Amino acid sequence: MKIHEYQAKELLRQHGVPVPRGYAAFTVQEALEAAQKLGGSVWVVKAQIHAGGRGKGGGVKLARSLDEVKALASQILGMQLVTHQTGPEGQKVRRLLVEEGADIKKEYYVAALTDRATQKIALMASSEGGMDIEEVAHATPEKILKVFVDPLVGLTDAQALELAAGIGVPAASQAHAVDVFKKLYACYMATDASLAEINPLILEGDGHIKALDAKFNFDANALYRHPDIVACRDLDEEDPAEVEASKFDLSYISLDGNIGCLVNGAGLAMATMDTIKLFGGEPANFLDVGGGA
Ligand code: ADP
Ligand code: MG
Repeated sequence: MKIHEYQAKELLRQHGVPVPRGYAAFTVQEALEAAQKLGGSVWVVKAQIHAGGRGKGGGVKLARSLDEVKALASQILGMQLVTHQTGPEGQKVRRLLVEEGADIKKEYYVAALTDRATQKIALMASSEGGMDIEEVAHATPEKILKVFVDPLVGLTDAQALELAAGIGVPAASQAHAVDVFKKLYACYMATDASLAEINPLILEGDGHIKALDAKFNFDANALYRHPDIVACRDLDEEDPAEVEASKFDLSYISLDGNIGCLVNGAGLAMATMDTIKLFGGEPANFLDVGGGA
């Protein structure tokens, strides 16, 4: 399950990770009120959809007056935002986050994720923040550093420092970065996340470290332990057919083809899809209605 940026930032905030002050808004009026409550002179109006790459797609905009906040909010709310993660049809924007503008000196990347190969938690960090991390991984893989955390031991100071120094956080801010990495790890563990990504993590003019964007995925098998996270679910962001199937506890995934599959057992469902593909067809879906028949 995924959540919105403003919800993810609330989780980070609860775990002590510094994030900008901000409020969610569902209407232009609420966006204006959010900016008034925040005060200051620079605001950022951010489309809330589950896909990344919103900045490039025109879904993250800087405002320097309340009038501009209003204009940008009415422009972004309701737009069909297309990013490299939404597909060409895009995703309709129904919510905004209005937050204070940050004083960005440098953008980094950091993420915690489950690494099945080592049976550990991988903490990944890079000096190349703010960009598409897949692109960085492809073009300059040496710029992504990784440490593997034993869940029984936790993230050590030495590991956190290795990352902070390795991505070039200035010496005076490394203690801040270590602190943020440890809190990110704690948040990841406490929420049963499978991915907790901060891109960008920024160095501010005053030397502090702050999370400017946040993306979480949660392990569906552990959601029963987190009613507060389940409450963040936004069905508008999910495939309607998958939502319908989930009501009946069916594992169903929409695919692009034209041959419908209704199969008892996940293994047989996979084999059926393989067979369809082998003969040049395309499955329209994966649907496991339960094995043991
Ligand atoms: P996405 O990853 O979906 O494009 P981000 O939240 O990462 O969205 O925003 C894209 C870029 O916009 C960031 O890399 C950062 O440069 C800028 N940005 C985002 N939030 C703020 C903010 N509060 N203050 C200043 N700049 C911001
Ligand atoms: Mg981002």
